[in-house]
Amino acid sequence: MNKHQAFSLHELEGRRIGVLGYGSQGRAHALNLRDSGLQVTVGLRPGGATSARAVADGFHVATPAEVAGTSDLLAVLAPDMAQPQLYADAIAPHLHTGSTLLFAHGFNVHFAAIAPRRDLDVVLVAPKGPGALVRREFERGAGVPCLFAVHQDASGHARDRVLAYAAGIGGARTQLIETSFREETETDLFGEQAVLCGGATELVKQGFETLVEAGYQPEVAYYECMHELKLIVDLLYEGGLAQMHRYISETAQYGDLTRGPRIVNGETRQRMREVLAEIRDGRFAREWVAEYAAGNSSYKALKQKDLAHPIEQVGAGLRAQMSWLRAGEEVSREPASAQKRAAGG
Ligand code: NAD
Ligand code: MG
Repeated sequence: MNKHQAFSLHELEGRRIGVLGYGSQGRAHALNLRDSGLQVTVGLRPGGATSARAVADGFHVATPAEVAGTSDLLAVLAPDMAQPQLYADAIAPHLHTGSTLLFAHGFNVHFAAIAPRRDLDVVLVAPKGPGALVRREFERGAGVPCLFAVHQDASGHARDRVLAYAAGIGGARTQLIETSFREETETDLFGEQAVLCGGATELVKQGFETLVEAGYQPEVAYYECMHELKLIVDLLYEGGLAQMHRYISETAQYGDLTRGPRIVNGETRQRMREVLAEIRDGRFAREWVAEYAAGNSSYKALKQKDLAHPIEQVGAGLRAQMSWLRAGEEVSREPASAQKRAAGG
């Protein structure tokens, strides 16, 4: 969609942009927008964890309410579970009529935890990558593909503004795909649950356990089931299934084609449909909101158990010897940040 590369920053030039939150996405958006020549203020709770980092990066930092009151476009980049309270306390009472409220994930608007004032534009820019990549790609003159959507167009300019924002963070240098809050929310949750985070890690852990219980060395199992996954994913990322087939052996191809469908099969597809149904009818959202409200005890216990998995001990020892990993530290730290996001902190 090269035509999008022409989208200009014009609609946001000379307007005040507020960024609430300075974590994975917040920092990347704020820095990229500023480097695009736009005027950015960061809104954070005083003394919060990331305040010092925003100040060190040269931003004027004020309270979320102050920033909401002085912004023409407000990007809400605090954790999803913190956003409804933040909207009620700091945003709704202060954001002036005709302003644009922007999200990076449609969760709260789609599941009606936030019902935005009718006089605001409500839009979405969801980069399809972690914040560190959004920043790193921008710095090298590229960008990360973004989904964008308009939920509410009070000003008549919502679409131009959301496209200008996407251009400002570098998204328009690659691909912008128009979507709806509903589609972004449901597909994003499904992807992270069934394929990217939940599906992939469960496959890795079960493969590792299968080899170890059969008596193979844990170090060998680690390389086979976790480490080498990156090679395959990189090939898929660059050139799809065809690229992978070009690089793996014929023996690997034959094994893939005949055994793969026995591992992830019709039964798995049925579970995927169930998980998708729970997302679509709101069961997942209600469960997660209730868990967060009750103090996250089962979430914390599950995470603890995951981090105590034997593959983590074996992996930590092996990775300590992988000097080449240091260079990519910033990006490889992102999965931890994404987990933190799930905790709402
Ligand atoms: P994060 O956890 O990395 O950072 C959150 C930031 O908000 C931190 O600066 C934190 O101090 C601050 N914060 C926490 N509570 C706050 C409050 N009550 N008021 C003001 N600031 C508060 O968050 P993130 O992962 O960047 O997620 C932000 C948004 O971006 C979410 O909507 C998320 O779904 C979306 N998103 C994230 C990713 C990702 O890769 N992490 C990708 C696409 C979309
Ligand atoms: Mg996601």
